[in-house]
Parts: sequence; structure tokens; C-alpha cells
Amino acid sequence: MLMTLEEIKKKYRLTRDNHTHTIYSRVGPYLHGKGRIIDNARAAVSRGLDLVAITDHGPTDFYGLSMKDLPQMRADIAEALKELSGLEIKLGVEADIVDTPNGLDVPPEDFDRFDFVNAGYHYVPNCRMIANWLSFRLPCPGYVKERLRKQNTERIIRALRSNDIYILTHPGDKAYIDEHAVAKACEETGTLVEINARHRHPDRDDLQIYKTYDVKFAISSDAHKPEHVGRYAESMALALDAGIDPARIVNIEER
Ligand SMILES: [Zn+2]
Ligand SMILES: [Zn+2]
Repeated sequence: MLMTLEEIKKKYRLTRDNHTHTIYSRVGPYLHGKGRIIDNARAAVSRGLDLVAITDHGPTDFYGLSMKDLPQMRADIAEALKELSGLEIKLGVEADIVDTPNGLDVPPEDFDRFDFVNAGYHYVPNCRMIANWLSFRLPCPGYVKERLRKQNTERIIRALRSNDIYILTHPGDKAYIDEHAVAKACEETGTLVEINARHRHPDRDDLQIYKTYDVKFAISSDAHKPEHVGRYAESMALALDAGIDPARIVNIEER
């Protein structure tokens, strides 16, 4: 029998939230992420997390971080650590999967500026954005869908093979992909498959494919507001429903 969300929260704990956004995901005065680094960090402490990562969008995203802000982000993290003992805070990024030589909008020479790099597909220029966007909104002929699926899958696999990516964020969201091929590439490269609390994919069917490969999973809140930091119960329910052994989820432990 499936567990209720309350039962899940009683039995399992999220240890690390490796994917949250802050006001550094912005375009001009519009803040895509609503909280400051200190707000996400305080929320992480109140949810009992050991670690929270600040992973704003890659620099070519409409709401992407500015690489010029990285020193200030490090300073904000140092400031937050002074206030909050016992919490670890990492500076990562959610790079966009695009058509560049390494398949990401973060070039290899910038990887060292982050503690780790997550990557995901988003609607941004230079990634067949319009075709993918339309494919979910207009009747899409089968052959077009299949062509997009092939291109999107190749793009993701190239990014996985060309970089040391920590987590592949919300695979299958916003773009049709071949889950088997992506799962195999995650297996080969040791990349964690994300179970995302904010997006519809990967869903139960997708996860049932991923679990047949030798991959590990990470649950992430993908919080865009501090109150969502550390959200995991719904994702854990989904994972259990898909038959994933909790031992394969790297940031969940039994209380
Ligand atoms: Zn994302
Ligand atoms: Zn995100």
C-alpha cells in the first residue's frame, strides 16, 4: 500500500537540497527566484537539511545569473554561514543544455567557479526552443515529434558526455526525449537523475524506465521561493510509486 505524505515525512528525511534558485536568477528588475541566499539558507535550516545548494539558471537563460555576480554570491554564502552553524551551502548552477561546443551555456573553463554544475533543458535561444515549445502547445505530427525527440536526446547526451555534470535536472520536461538513451548516458557518466518537485517530468512512467538502468537519483525542490526549499514528500511518493528503492536516492535517509 502506498504511504501518505505524512507517513513519508515521518519515515524519510531529505538531507541535501541540490537545486534552489534565488534573486540572482533575474532579468532586469524582474526576480525569477524570489528569495535571497540567506532566505533559502534559513529555510533549509528550518526544514532540517544538512546542505542547500544555490543553483541559479545558466548565463544564457532569460533569467540567467550574471557571471559577474559570482563573487557577490560567494560573499552572501559566507555571510549566511556566519549566521547559520551546522548548515553547508554550495554554489552550483543549473546550466542550460544548448548548441555550444560542450553542449552547455557554462564553458569548461568556468566549471571551477562553481562547487558543481547541474544541467537541464529550458526554453532559451540556441536549443530549438520554438520548435520544442510549439510541440507541446499545437497538434504535433508524429514525425515532427520523433525528429525533435532525436535532436533533444542527442543534445542532452552530448552535454552529459562532454562535461562532469552532477545532476541532470527534470529530464523530459519541456522537450520530448528518448528516456532509454538518456538513462544509458547517465549510467555511463555517473550523472544523477533528478526527481523534481516542481516539474511534471520525470513522471512515474519515465522513472520506471530510469530505474531499469544502473543510475542513482536525487530529489530536488527546484525552489524558486524560500518556502519551497526542501520540498521532497511528493517526489518521494512518486519514486516509491514508481518502485524505486529508496537506497538509490542519494539525498534521502531514514529518520
Ligand atoms: Zn530547470
Ligand atoms: Zn531550476
